[in-house]
Amino acid sequence: MTNNNSAAASVCPRCRSEQTEVVTMSPVKNVWVVYSCKRCFYMWRSTEPEENTDPDHYPEAFRLTPETMADMPVVPAVPPLRPKKD
Ligand SMILES: [Zn+2]
Repeated sequence: MTNNNSAAASVCPRCRSEQTEVVTMSPVKNVWVVYSCKRCFYMWRSTEPEENTDPDHYPEAFRLTPETMADMPVVPAVPPLRPKKD
């Protein structure tokens, strides 16, 4: 297949990992494919705009690298409770 909807391995738009997998494909054949990144867990559908599917067009502010991911908490910390008002 040579179109954008092939199930060929893709590079993650967010972290550029080549460890991606096909999550699911359109019920009607060759309409879209949903991919997932095994490194940063980003998911995207082949028919989304370039800024969601192409690493070169993905917004720079949201890009990830292995170095930035190493410093991320697994679950964001819950902030302290606000004092109760009377
Ligand atoms: Zn990724």
